[in-house]
Amino acid sequence: MDDYARGVLSGDRMILSRAITLIESNSPAHFGRASRLVKEILPHAGASTRVGITGVPGVGKSTFIDAFGHRLCELGHKVAVLAVDPSSSVTKGSILGDKTRMENLSRHENAFIRPSPSGGALGGVSRKSRETILLCEAAGYDVILVETVGVGQSEAAVRSMVDFFLLMVLTGAGDELQGIKKGVMELADAVVVSKADGGNLTKAAATRAEYNRILHYLRPATEGWETKAYTCSALSGDGIDDVWAVIGCFIENVKASGVFDERRRKQVLAWVYTMVEDYLKQKFYGDERIAGERPSVESRVISGDLSATEAAMEFIRLFESCNGAA
Ligand code: GDP
Repeated sequence: MDDYARGVLSGDRMILSRAITLIESNSPAHFGRASRLVKEILPHAGASTRVGITGVPGVGKSTFIDAFGHRLCELGHKVAVLAVDPSSSVTKGSILGDKTRMENLSRHENAFIRPSPSGGALGGVSRKSRETILLCEAAGYDVILVETVGVGQSEAAVRSMVDFFLLMVLTGAGDELQGIKKGVMELADAVVVSKADGGNLTKAAATRAEYNRILHYLRPATEGWETKAYTCSALSGDGIDDVWAVIGCFIENVKASGVFDERRRKQVLAWVYTMVEDYLKQKFYGDERIAGERPSVESRVISGDLSATEAAMEFIRLFESCNGAA
């Protein structure tokens, strides 16, 4: 067995970190070893509760994760915090996963915090995050918190790698609510109104009621589960235990109904095809002959000489001839 695999399975945090770095490496020289490592730890992965957490910057995600994760550690759980932030590779500055933001949690011996990998496109970032989840599970972490922000498709990507998805929102009815995309609310298994403390308490309760009213008309994210809104304060600690209780109730419910296993099966298969699609896309757009043909095909489409379907067929024929198809 690989030294990394042995170290990860023994729960060695230093080796876990190095193993994740290996997984995150973009160097082709590391692919073989990384993929063997994942294969070796795979039989020991899977036994965790995977929770995704999203919300606009400033909503209080990291403060919540700090308090929530710490509480779970105190209860005896081992908590890994990961971030999926495709913007970090574009802006070279990460919105998420900044360790200093979770000071309390990062000092706890039961916690492991990993910032977002810099992977270029979302596909790369989410592949690495999925494999990092597996490594953390093999290392004994039984609660995995995956943080993301609404950048591009990152919320959908995180939804597709977790069991439970939590949307954090700010207080404020009306305008605030309009800003939340309906699509994101339809991914959520719980909506948590943050900063429900001090002078904000009444507003937070009103916001929760407003969200509950809207959620009632939306399609639930998980079959057999009614998504509801809650309030929480990471500062006072109010509502922190309730969030964990809701997650516990959810997991019990979906495990009993078979929805849990069904979702995990679908997720892993979807992941396979996502990787195939990413590969094909990269190959198509990276192909020099295709790139060379694009200006002329595009201008023929714009001028009306070529229909969209004809153009697509032309590209596909060219792509296939470049790749050795008959
Ligand atoms: P993130 O960008 O979503 O990770 O948000 P942060 O966790 O960095 O929080 C943004 C701001 O909200 C910070 O100034 C926090 O101190 C503040 N904040 C976060 N949680 C709470 C809370 O429960 N109550 C109050 N009053 N402020 C909070």
